[in-house]
Amino acid sequence: MSRMLMGTSQVAEPFWKGTEEKILRVQFCKDCGKAHHYPRNFCPHCHGENLEWKDASGEGTIYAITVCHKPGLPTMAASVPYAVALVDLAEGPRMMTNIVGLEDVHTAKVGDKVKVAWEDAGSGKNLPVFEIA
Ligand SMILES: [Zn+2]
Repeated sequence: MSRMLMGTSQVAEPFWKGTEEKILRVQFCKDCGKAHHYPRNFCPHCHGENLEWKDASGEGTIYAITVCHKPGLPTMAASVPYAVALVDLAEGPRMMTNIVGLEDVHTAKVGDKVKVAWEDAGSGKNLPVFEIA
């Protein structure tokens, strides 16, 4: 438990560094070869600790999607309605994200191919979101 709580932001640092250059990075396990996201100190597949960061292709497929008509946070009020999705990256990991750039937010659907886009997250960092490929 303490291992999971300890240094959570530290383990994610290469991820956020990558976003400064709009590079999507995921962790790969050298023991089992599988990728995962979100960043962790050990592999969720085999519990190995032999991890490395690699640049992802930025390509993925929508696994699940929903449209939010109420803002999740007050600061998101101007964004509604917006699409929240689980995207399966080409490298394997599934990540929660937003689908952007849609003329009609309801048109994106499960199985659509998407590619990473970036939203300014402040402090030089960017947030990975996705648009239809
Ligand atoms: Zn592993």
